[in-house]
Amino acid sequence: MALSQVVGRLLGVRPYQVQPGGGGASRVPQPVTALVVGGGIAGVSAAVVLAERGVEVTVLEAAPTLGGRLGAWPQTLADGTRQVNEHGFHAFFRQYYNWRNILRRIDPKLRFLRPVPSYPVLSAQWPTEEFGRLPPAPPANLLTLLVRSPSLRLRDLRGMDRDAALPLLTYDPVRTYAEFDERTADDLLTSLRLPDRARAMLFEVFSHSFFNHEAQMSAAEMIAQFHFYLLGNPEGLAFDCPEDDYATTIWGPLTRHVERHGGQVMAGVAATGLHRTDTGWQVTTTEGAYQAGHVVLAVDPAALAALVAASPGLADTAPQLVAAMPGYGQPGPPYAVARYWCQGEVAAERAIFSGVTRQSTLDSVTLYHRLEQGSRRWAEETDGSVLELHAYACEPDVPATELAGRMWAELTTLWPEVGRLRVRELHARVEAKAPAFAPGSHARRPGVRTDAPGLYLAGDGIHTDFPSALMERAAATGILAANHILRAAGAATEPLRSVRPRGLLARR
Ligand SMILES: Cc1cc2nc3c(=O)[nH]c(=O)nc-3n(C[C@H](O)[C@H](O)[C@H](O)COP(=O)(O)OP(=O)(O)OC[C@H]3O[C@@H](n4cnc5c(N)ncnc54)[C@H](O)[C@@H]3O)c2cc1C
Repeated sequence: MALSQVVGRLLGVRPYQVQPGGGGASRVPQPVTALVVGGGIAGVSAAVVLAERGVEVTVLEAAPTLGGRLGAWPQTLADGTRQVNEHGFHAFFRQYYNWRNILRRIDPKLRFLRPVPSYPVLSAQWPTEEFGRLPPAPPANLLTLLVRSPSLRLRDLRGMDRDAALPLLTYDPVRTYAEFDERTADDLLTSLRLPDRARAMLFEVFSHSFFNHEAQMSAAEMIAQFHFYLLGNPEGLAFDCPEDDYATTIWGPLTRHVERHGGQVMAGVAATGLHRTDTGWQVTTTEGAYQAGHVVLAVDPAALAALVAASPGLADTAPQLVAAMPGYGQPGPPYAVARYWCQGEVAAERAIFSGVTRQSTLDSVTLYHRLEQGSRRWAEETDGSVLELHAYACEPDVPATELAGRMWAELTTLWPEVGRLRVRELHARVEAKAPAFAPGSHARRPGVRTDAPGLYLAGDGIHTDFPSALMERAAATGILAANHILRAAGAATEPLRSVRPRGLLARR
């Protein structure tokens, strides 16, 4: 354990138990059936836990492959080689306790996850900021950042509005939302009176990672995410990545795990509606109807709103769920992912993953040929490189290839050698499936339990009482949904953990 973690632990910075798990039979005492709609992290996490306890669970996934926004699919390049393309680079942070517990089912020591040691933030205006080599735990990580960061000097700290900054250290799951949910993240950042450079290098790159524009994101959500990622966990900003593509390392093994426990995983089956029956629920799909005692809807916000709208019976059985949809079903802005297969290589010192600040489109760049085995092999055989560029909150209605071109041009201003690479192939996508965290949305955010018996929600936009975000929130809500079903059936539930529930300086 690092010294910062020892000090942090004395201050209560450690994993906290949210639900102890257990409390029932190791398998459901009588037959229980469940349908999980959506085969992303949330749906598959629910299915894993349910199948292990003997629930007859079926996952219905609309796409031909599992994974949703962490999806991966085979792609044949123009040169005839087979590659696995993906929905985009993901950082598996170390405080993702619940997602990691699901992944331990397929690799108990998580050997397929490799540390990514460096986390630089690039800017055309200022020198690179390094987030990767901070002490892991707060308060040492924050203090080191403040002392070491070239973007923030002592005189800047003196000029800062320290009262305005205090809420970042006093996160409280009730008070923070009561006081800050109506304000925007942009407004909060402005109130700190930070120099422009510190704002860009230390804060904006962070807030962009939540797929929302600062001017349209709740200040309370930003405070919550600061707490979850930097100030409330003993692992800090360290993260790992799979050594190969997500289909090989995650979705294949998790599918086999569910099937080994008697569950079924049906890809290419889209749910088109649902209604309550005498014995539970019927879900209609593009491939016929399915019945079960319980349903977990683990789809992205727009898909949930569409499904609810296509299920008129829910107006009687789940009126609160129906009422929440107009707000919840509006996703955040589009994000773009462009993967480039190139002739030639970037400079040796470039990091595997870099955040980018203050470019109009580009938010991050990943060197896949230094990360995943499949890309590495392709690059070795062709003297090439595989680069992936992301934009996390783009303007609407811009085609994917146009966004890819803008990101590429912006990257060449940061890494001039990119201009000498020859692009052999480009696959670009733009989508809007991330949840919005608009100011004032917290009170209306749906939770895992709906007002209809046997109907549950899971996903990274669903409310949790404890700190969580992105992949970890998807997994945690999937497990929570499964726990509701298991508890009702008298079976043991799955334990859940999270980071310190409140900020270091929060009043009890
Ligand atoms: C480019 C990018 C980079 C990211 N980077 C990170 C990162 O570094 N770290 C991190 O923690 N998170 C990251 N995320 C966020 C992360 O991917 C999501 O938080 C997570 O995958 C959400 O999982 P989910 O199961 O809630 O939803 P989804 O992954 O959206 O899964 C929902 C599933 O439901 C299916 N579906 C929809 N409608 C239907 C229907 N009618 N019938 C059946 N199935 C249906 C969809 O096809 C999909 O598979 C990133 C996301 C993107 C897009």
